[in-house]
Amino acid sequence: MIIGSHVNFGAKQLLGSAQTAVSYGANTFMFYTGAPQNTIRKSIDANLTKEAQEYMKYHDIDINNVICHAPYIINLANREKEDSWNFSISFLKNEINRITEMGINYIVVHPGNALKLDRMTALHNIAEAINLILTPETKPMILLETMAGKGTECGINLYELKVMLDNITLKDKVGICLDTCHLNDSGIDIAKFDDYLKEFSESIGLEKIKCIHINDSKNPIGSHKDRHANLGYGTIGFDNLINVLYNFKLKDVPKILETPWILEYPPYKLEIDMIKSKKFNPNLENDLKELYK
Ligand code: FE
Ligand code: FE
Ligand code: ZN
Repeated sequence: MIIGSHVNFGAKQLLGSAQTAVSYGANTFMFYTGAPQNTIRKSIDANLTKEAQEYMKYHDIDINNVICHAPYIINLANREKEDSWNFSISFLKNEINRITEMGINYIVVHPGNALKLDRMTALHNIAEAINLILTPETKPMILLETMAGKGTECGINLYELKVMLDNITLKDKVGICLDTCHLNDSGIDIAKFDDYLKEFSESIGLEKIKCIHINDSKNPIGSHKDRHANLGYGTIGFDNLINVLYNFKLKDVPKILETPWILEYPPYKLEIDMIKSKKFNPNLENDLKELYK
């Protein structure tokens, strides 16, 4: 299984991220190339990148499975203010250049918020923005994430994902990132995940799924909330998440945990242990205190 979590991208850049991932027992990871809430970015250090690539090779992390996540604040959906739309486009272009320098293949993007626009216009804006970003030379793929439907988020069902994909010109450079919490909150029953995959394969095609965010949810199906819970501590439940993780059709897809920290501790090592052993840990908080004391 290709499994990891989101990790920090700090002073040691990709090297630090890879080291954190290895400390969790992960064989992949996802990072933001700066704070997810802002667009302040440092330039990529070529030496650190080279060290990171060697470190990953040595620790059996295939760089082809490593994922970048774009910051939340870019919004490709709304172009009432042309300046902010253009800013989002140029920021994402820049981000793609930065990850190209590091040899990263995927960048996950939240499609955006329609705000006062009607959804169909918003979906077309997203596709148009991506058409302005991608060129035949672009190496990384943009992965549109399935969203929970909080506020005016776009990309909340298969129909909306398909409208976006259908209107993108360079189709082989765009894929989908599923998120189990977002699916649950958007109205999909993860207990019937195979039914969802069947629909997905009929309308979009399973080969488009390039990443899965594995999160439990604090809220019931269809709540449109988007609050992540630790594995087995939410409404989706441990067994349903294990079924997603071990789904044979998705065995080559990187799985990324974005579950919340407990107290001041990252839960990922222990959650990865749970996944590998397929055994729920009811003492996560105490075991974390032990692990990091
Ligand atoms: Fe996301
Ligand atoms: Fe996510
Ligand atoms: Zn989320």
